[in-house]
Amino acid sequence: MPDIMNKPLPLVDQFSRTISYLRLSLTDRCNLRCMYCMPQEDEGRDSELKTGKFLPHTELLSYEELLRIVKLAVGMGMNKLRLTGGEPLVRKGVLDFIHQLSAIKGLDEIRLTTNGVLLAKYAKQLAAEGVKHINVSLDTLVPEKFHKITGKGLFQEVWNGLMTAANLGFKVKINVVAMKGVNDDEFRDFANLALDYPFQVRFIEFMPVGDKSSWQREQFISADDIQSMFSAIGKLTPFTRRNMDGPARVFELESADGRKGSVGFISPISHHFCDQCNRLRLTSEGKLRSCLLNDQESDLKGLLRSGASDKEIISIIRQTILDKPQGHSLQSTLEGEERTTCGGRMSRIGG
Ligand code: SAM
Ligand code: SF4
Repeated sequence: MPDIMNKPLPLVDQFSRTISYLRLSLTDRCNLRCMYCMPQEDEGRDSELKTGKFLPHTELLSYEELLRIVKLAVGMGMNKLRLTGGEPLVRKGVLDFIHQLSAIKGLDEIRLTTNGVLLAKYAKQLAAEGVKHINVSLDTLVPEKFHKITGKGLFQEVWNGLMTAANLGFKVKINVVAMKGVNDDEFRDFANLALDYPFQVRFIEFMPVGDKSSWQREQFISADDIQSMFSAIGKLTPFTRRNMDGPARVFELESADGRKGSVGFISPISHHFCDQCNRLRLTSEGKLRSCLLNDQESDLKGLLRSGASDKEIISIIRQTILDKPQGHSLQSTLEGEERTTCGGRMSRIGG
């Protein structure tokens, strides 16, 4: 019997979007304090535990609970998983967890989004567990600026992580949050990174996420503006859309001296891509969320811990998919209307 006969039917929402991709925020903790992600009050703390600003471990879903949810979601037709956070690599036991995930039949891909600080340390084991795609967030190539943006002087660690990942043959995408006055003077250097190394460099519009976000309109640069700057750096030729390009518009960049690389532009605000969104997110506090920018959530953790059956959990996952909003309204923030963004913290939602 061919395997295709046993595959579940695709999960489709009420706007005909096929939902195939689950993002898990494994923890809200992080070894960096990026200025746009962690609220000011979280910066520079000696002890995360004492302040109580991070979730206590009992509030995180255990690996056992996460595995149960992933197995059910895969059984329903989801086949791609991304581990994020907070910083996924700071959670104890993450490699064993990935090992268990890799044994789930029907789960085609496990991808990782990381700040790269611990990547050099774990890259080999990640490769051994079958992880092939890694997104590394890096907003500057200047070590001092890195310290300013992230609160920690760990640029070299991230760089070593990138080099290790490249040497091991991972497909690496570098995510750069574009911020006027912060890193817009480095776009040419990032272009060279894409031209000289096997990395796809993707620029993301700065989003006003979280009720204490440091987002300022003055710092916003649209993906179109970044793309125009790149047209001055080299020739941009669009790649045909691939399934896992996700929301990025991806181009081949060719410089005047004939070097080639890959760059992408992600425009959650200026041209939202909600009509193609294929994702669900499980927050680090165990809430299932159908949109990054909409605070509507289903409490899967509460359900699991009250002894719910698989059938009940499946039914809530299905309902969350059916309730997935058609789109978000971030654009109105830019047009000067009252801020209508999500209040949840990016580190809990997982970006
Ligand atoms: N710690 C990991 C990392 O930094 O890659 C994973 C979690 S982080 C929340 C996921 C992504 O969200 C990162 O690429 C980060 O740059 C992005 N991000 C966080 N806050 C953002 C914001 N306000 N606007 C745009 N992107 C943001
Ligand atoms: Fe940590 Fe990632 Fe947030 Fe930076 S963006 S503080 S690395 S979770």
